[in-house]
Amino acid sequence: MSAESWKAQLREIVGKDYLLDTPAALLAYESDALTLFRCKPSAVLLPENADQVAACVAVLHAAKVPFAARGAGTGLSGGALVAEGGVVIAMTRLKKIHALDAERRIAIVDPGVVNLDLSRAAEKFGLRYAPDPASQSVSTLGGNMAENAGGPMCFLHGTTANHVLAADVVLPDGRCETWGEVHDHAQDLDLRGFLCGSEGTVAIAVRLYLKLVPVPEKVVTMMAAFHSIAEACSAVSAIVAAGLRPVALEVMDQATINAVENSVYRAGLPTDAGAVLIIEVEGPSTTVEHDVPQMEALLDNFDLLRLERAETPEQRLAVWKGRKGAGGALGRLAPDSYVMDGVVPRSKLTEIMDYVGEVQTEAGLPVANLFHAGDGNIHPHFSYDARDPEQAAAVENAGAKILRRCLELGGSISGEHGIGLEKQHMMAEQFGAEEIALMERLRRVFNPTDLMNPGRGLPMGSGCAEAFHRHGRIQNG
Ligand SMILES: Cc1cc2nc3c(=O)[nH]c(=O)nc-3n(C[C@H](O)[C@H](O)[C@H](O)COP(=O)(O)OP(=O)(O)OC[C@H]3O[C@@H](n4cnc5c(N)ncnc54)[C@H](O)[C@@H]3O)c2cc1C
Repeated sequence: MSAESWKAQLREIVGKDYLLDTPAALLAYESDALTLFRCKPSAVLLPENADQVAACVAVLHAAKVPFAARGAGTGLSGGALVAEGGVVIAMTRLKKIHALDAERRIAIVDPGVVNLDLSRAAEKFGLRYAPDPASQSVSTLGGNMAENAGGPMCFLHGTTANHVLAADVVLPDGRCETWGEVHDHAQDLDLRGFLCGSEGTVAIAVRLYLKLVPVPEKVVTMMAAFHSIAEACSAVSAIVAAGLRPVALEVMDQATINAVENSVYRAGLPTDAGAVLIIEVEGPSTTVEHDVPQMEALLDNFDLLRLERAETPEQRLAVWKGRKGAGGALGRLAPDSYVMDGVVPRSKLTEIMDYVGEVQTEAGLPVANLFHAGDGNIHPHFSYDARDPEQAAAVENAGAKILRRCLELGGSISGEHGIGLEKQHMMAEQFGAEEIALMERLRRVFNPTDLMNPGRGLPMGSGCAEAFHRHGRIQNG
């Protein structure tokens, strides 16, 4: 089938204004927030509902055209792009909240709903959606599901997979199914679990059935300022070892604090501190009132520069605006950012931070650290210029070294950003050949033609490797 013929069929389905194929319109879809990888699709579709998604997928399947779903494009591993000749299916027009069932604490939503919009809508019922990636004011629930997104509050509440009950999905040939159960019935095979974190490679979610949790009775947010990042990491281990259960334990180093304080996300953080630790405790008032003094007593054992409580909701909001805006604040420092994602056991945080410092010196590029410390999930943030091949190569090498050290310390190459295109070359360092072959076989059961988000998540097959432009030149392996 010629490109003109399948494009005409797709235009029929979505309407002529919702198939984009001019160079200017395609530019916005050539990468996600990881700008190391770029590739302009041949078209972008903006379907309006689930039926249109299914019909478009059926046409692409028949025409043997590769395609990838896309949410807000805030992904940091090169997930929501497709090789030349392929089609991006943007889910951003599917943004309806269909039902909020306060009694059963369930939300039924379109995948293009922005994460924070769901919590805002649920608030009037005293409920909220717990997973809160720092990108929650823009990223979509579909993208969150596909990456199994985490966030500060996920230390207590668990990542996205723990909050997805079921999904209506479109399979790679256009057929529709429902995976999972809204009721608490056990399933033989947990396809819902398989979907979460599958990076858009096995099915496109067109409707999500999500758990909501009550807005807590009481919340206390504290900010502890330390002389060094090592001390902040030790405090994190001490808090968890003491059996305390804060909802969030987030660390920001001095470079991050400075970037935040020099931006619109300014939160009054101490710029003389080597690091700050944000601790939030939530729950019934009696529990919080019991836990917070214990937390403060424990922190007293450290040589703190400051320990403050957010006294008002506005102060709490300012602290979180600073933390969640830190990525944006750091993004202003250079034309490009490389935000890494690795995991180490919590007890190894100091060691990995020391190593990030060594790698930074070697690479000669600025790095800032902000991370979900409770989960041992680090995010070194390199600022660089992708137009300079030397800087781009240095940043990639630095990233690989840090991930390798995460593995040596008993961790993982990804906590929440996924494998995407970014980490394929590292998969064989974490998993054995048999494990990778099993993952590939499993994926092929659902996506036998590999047209849905091809070459993502697993080591690239030959033929895929040349498809994406990597820092201004063709990737060659
Ligand atoms: C400043 C900043 C801060 C961030 N903070 C966090 C954080 O704290 N925690 C965290 O986990 N991540 C974080 N991220 C990364 C990113 O926001 C998440 O990965 C997010 O889940 C991506 O959502 P999205 O809508 O932008 O998806 P996209 O980037 O558009 O897509 C991501 C993947 O999902 C697939 N996909 C999208 N929609 C669907 C669908 N309906 N069905 C099936 N597959 C689909 C795509 O094919 C792609 O593989 C951050 C990113 C930025 C830029």
